[in-house]
Amino acid sequence: MLDLLTRSTSDTYRSLIAQTSARVADRFETTTQPFSGASRAELQRLVDGVHLDGDGVGSSQAVREMDEMFLEHAVWFHHPAYTAHLNCPVALPAVAAETVLAAVNTSVDTYDQSAIGTLIERRLIDWAASRVGFTRGSGVFTSGGTQSNLHALLLAREATLAATSLPRPRALSRLVVFATASSHFSVGKSALLLGLADDAVVEVADDGEGRMDAAALANAIREVAASGRLPMAVVATAGTTDRGVIDPVDAIADVCDEHGVWLHVDAAYGCGLLVSARRRHLLAGVERARSLTIDFHKSFFQPVSSSAILVREPHDLAAGAWHADYLNPLENDEPNQVDVSLQTTRRFDALKLWVTLRALGPDHIGAMFDTVIDLAETVGDEIRADPEFELVGRTQLSTVLFRVRPEGVDEASSDTLVAGVRRVLFESGRALVAKTVIDGRPCLKLTLLNPETTLDDIRRVLAMVKDAATTLAGIAPDLDQALAEASA
Ligand SMILES: *Cc1c(COP(=O)(O)O)cnc(C)c1O
Repeated sequence: MLDLLTRSTSDTYRSLIAQTSARVADRFETTTQPFSGASRAELQRLVDGVHLDGDGVGSSQAVREMDEMFLEHAVWFHHPAYTAHLNCPVALPAVAAETVLAAVNTSVDTYDQSAIGTLIERRLIDWAASRVGFTRGSGVFTSGGTQSNLHALLLAREATLAATSLPRPRALSRLVVFATASSHFSVGKSALLLGLADDAVVEVADDGEGRMDAAALANAIREVAASGRLPMAVVATAGTTDRGVIDPVDAIADVCDEHGVWLHVDAAYGCGLLVSARRRHLLAGVERARSLTIDFHKSFFQPVSSSAILVREPHDLAAGAWHADYLNPLENDEPNQVDVSLQTTRRFDALKLWVTLRALGPDHIGAMFDTVIDLAETVGDEIRADPEFELVGRTQLSTVLFRVRPEGVDEASSDTLVAGVRRVLFESGRALVAKTVIDGRPCLKLTLLNPETTLDDIRRVLAMVKDAATTLAGIAPDLDQALAEASA
C-alpha cells in the first residue's frame, strides 16, 4: 500500500504533484473561454458514467480522468470573460501554500494540533484588526462571509441577552436585527438559525442607491424599542454584493452608540479597501464596529476558503466557547482557537494569506483591487454613453449593473431579455455574466475581480451581450456566428 502520504511515499508525492500541476498549467495555457458550454445533460452523463465501487485505477489514471472530466468543464474565474460573481483569480503564492495545507493537513483547532500554525493565524488576525483600526481586536478565520456573519450575530445575540433581565425564551422572540434590502441574504438566514422570530430582520430604508439611511435607522430603532422589542444588532454592509456600495458606517456608528446597539460591519466584499492606498477612506468608521466580516477569498485574491470574523473587544468572543475534557479543558492555558470558533477541525487557511502578504506585500494587493475598481468605473462610463445600454446605479467597488435594449425593443421586453442573455452566454461558454433584481426590475451584472482584464476584454463581453439580446429579440438570426464574431 503506497497510497498515503508518508515518509515512504515522498517520491511518489513529488511526481504526482508535478504531473498534476503540469496538467493544470496546460489548461491555463490552452483554455480559451471561461466554460466549455457543455449541456447539463452531457455533464450529468459524464458524472454518472464513472464507477465508484470498482477497483481503484491508480493515482495517475485518476488524475488524468479528473483532467478530462473536471478541468475540461470547469468554470474558469481567471478568464477575462468570466464576469459573473464575486470570484477572483487566485494569488500564486496562495496556491503554493494551499498544496502545503493539504499535505501537512494541519487543523487549527487546538494548539497541540497546530503549534506555530495557531500563532501564524493569530498574528494575521492581529494584523487585520490593526488595519481595521481596532486597538485590541481579536477574531478567528472562518469558511466564508456567511459563517462570519452568523458568528457575529451569535455574539451580538448573546451580548443582548446578557444585558436584559427577561427570561431567555421571551427575550429571544423579541430580538431585532436592522439591515437594508441590499444586505447579504446570510443575515436573514443567520436570524433563522439563531432562533429569532420570523420578522426579526427589520429592513431599514436606503438613500435610493442602496446605502443605508442613518436617520431612517435611528427612527427604526426608536420604533422597535418603543414597541417593547429588543434591538440586537445593526448590520452595515461595506460593499453590497450587487450594487457594490458602502453604507455610511460613521453615521451608522453614531446611531448605534447612541442607542447601545451592536454594530456589525459586513465587509466581505469591500475588505480589500483595507489595503488600498487610494480608497481606504471609503471604509471610514469601520473601527467603530463591534464585529466585522472579511472575505479574503474575494478582494484579497485568496483561494476559497479564506474569511475571518474580527471583534473590537476580545472578550466578546467568549460567548461562543465550549469546553471538552479531551480537547480544550478549562485548566489548559494553551491558545486553542477552538475556544473562539464555531468549527472544531478547521483548515489552516491563514497560511495562504501569510505567504501572499510576504510574497506580494499588502500595497500590491490593494493596488490590484484598485485596478478592478478603476476598470468598473470606465466600463460604467462606456455603458452609460451607449444608447443600447442602460446603466443601473453607480458602484463604489467593481460591479456594473445594466440592461440591454437593442433599437426597437421596449422597456418591458428589455426586462425579459435579462434572463435569456445570461442563459445564452452561459450555454455558449464564451462569456459569463450574472443577473439580479434592482428596485423590482431585473438587470445584468458584471463583477470585475481580475486585475489583468482589459477594457477591450469587457468590450468583447458587452458585444456578446448585445448579440445575444438582438438574437433573442428576433432581430439578428444567427446567434452562434454572432457570438463567435463578437468574442474573436
Ligand atoms: C459574498 C458575501 C457574503 C457571503 O460570503 P461567502 O464567503 O460566500 O459565504 C456575505 N456578505 C457579502 C456582502 C458578500 O458579498
